[in-house]
Amino acid sequence: MTSREQGNEAVAPISRPSLTDGSLFIGGARRDAVSQRRRDVIDPSTGKKITTVAEGDAQDVDAAVRAARAAFDEGPWRHTPARERGRVLTRAAQLIRERTDELVALESIDAGKPVSLTRIIDVGNTIAQFEYYGGLAHSLAGATRQTAFPSMAYTVPEPIGVIGAITPFNFPLILSTVKIAAALAAGNTMVHKPAEDTPLTALVIAEILAEAGLPDGVLNVVTGGGEAGDALVRHPGVDKIAFTGSTAVGRAIASTAGESVKPVTLELGGKSAQIIFEDADLDVAIGKAIEGFVFNTGQFCMGGTRLLVARPLFDTVSKAVAGAAGGVPLGDPFDPATVIGPIAGARHLEKVERYVELARSEPGAEILAGGHRIDLNGGYFYAPTVIVGMANDSRLVQEEVFGPVLTIQPFDTEDEAVALANSTQYGLAAGLHTRDLNRAHRVASRLQAGIVWVNTWGMLDPAMPFGGLKQSGYGREYGPEGLAEYLNTKSVIIATA
Ligand code: NAP
Repeated sequence: MTSREQGNEAVAPISRPSLTDGSLFIGGARRDAVSQRRRDVIDPSTGKKITTVAEGDAQDVDAAVRAARAAFDEGPWRHTPARERGRVLTRAAQLIRERTDELVALESIDAGKPVSLTRIIDVGNTIAQFEYYGGLAHSLAGATRQTAFPSMAYTVPEPIGVIGAITPFNFPLILSTVKIAAALAAGNTMVHKPAEDTPLTALVIAEILAEAGLPDGVLNVVTGGGEAGDALVRHPGVDKIAFTGSTAVGRAIASTAGESVKPVTLELGGKSAQIIFEDADLDVAIGKAIEGFVFNTGQFCMGGTRLLVARPLFDTVSKAVAGAAGGVPLGDPFDPATVIGPIAGARHLEKVERYVELARSEPGAEILAGGHRIDLNGGYFYAPTVIVGMANDSRLVQEEVFGPVLTIQPFDTEDEAVALANSTQYGLAAGLHTRDLNRAHRVASRLQAGIVWVNTWGMLDPAMPFGGLKQSGYGREYGPEGLAEYLNTKSVIIATA
């Protein structure tokens, strides 16, 4: 299952897992950090420690890169026929499917995700990604070209080498496995550094791939903080960095990688606009407006956090969205009825609070819903928050909050709606609601975004590439484009005369 709208099935109850301490995964084996340091992992729905993981640093990154380097330079993986690599990924998809409940429980307790959604969105898409790239590996091929001189000329797609993958806390599984599936299908080896707040599922995925037949050293995992990430970017044994995270860290990584001309793909932040035109199907548009900012507790890079509404509909839509937002079931992620869980970490919650405080001192701004924490089980809960009356150049409208916070602004003309939508530094996603087909195409072509949704929001599929424009980054994940990010093209020209 790949789409977010296929989530209406009955969900089997899932219990909180009992956890053992996590270790690094290097060269096909679990091991402690060289420093022996460990880091607590917190359940964001209770604020309590649930386990510890090894706190890797530059020494562990070095060991992991050496393992990945040896596996690339000497190992069989890059020379394994692409279709056999694809079979390993497809076997991994099946093993993940068999271990769905375990992965749902781990991802939910680690990131505070509602189990009902984790099953469909996080684990469902992880399976779909491995299946997709497992299949796509079969189609890896070069081309023959005609030249102006006598020759046999052809291109060969080749793996890049050792990939350093650095991933964020909001979709720990999906955002790591999209890199892993594509990079491995292409024949690369890897070192993955997951976010320090959400490291648990990365270790299980490495073990599953080993069980599926991935040779030792091809995928290594170093849990640890930004220091480990920085060491990975700087390591001379790493040939490319695949990064998903904030624009600030992405900028720093691009700068560091630039020193050694190391290629980087950057999937960065967003502040995406969703436009409701006067002729929209209002039931759909209001539903998507709510979903657009509460999905994953607003911790969605493509969250529709700026709602732009045709002025005649402004009051109706604002009241409807604010009224309904408070009714979305919020609470314990292990309750199958829960739709909104906690924010994934204490520092992320504090950031959301700081942003909403800005609205209280903004002349003309009004908080129509939310605007406060929710005191529940000691967890990091924040009420879905709807704000009107913010100036377009205010920080709350321009910057990424990364929580369930929506601003709503009116517009008078199509040109104004497009200008407002394009007015931030970001260019990740955008959406519009209209019944006018001409307008749908016209506005979609004018929106500065890597993905545009019409009469829906948030639909992603492994076959459809996504990625950013402007300060939302560069490079694409998903689709054949996502595979191409992990390949070099070699030209071979053989003189025939
Ligand atoms: P973040 O703070 O940028 O961290 C992302 C990853 O980078 C983490 O693993 C982090 O480690 C690591 N890191 C931190 N400093 C580093 C450094 N100097 N060098 C190398 N690595 C470093 O992002 P986040 O708060 O986890 O995630 C939220 C952000 O990700 C949002 O901006 C969101 O929009 C973006 N995002 C983008 C997409 C997309 O596809 N465009 C998807 C999801 C999320 P620690 O966790 O240990 O600090």
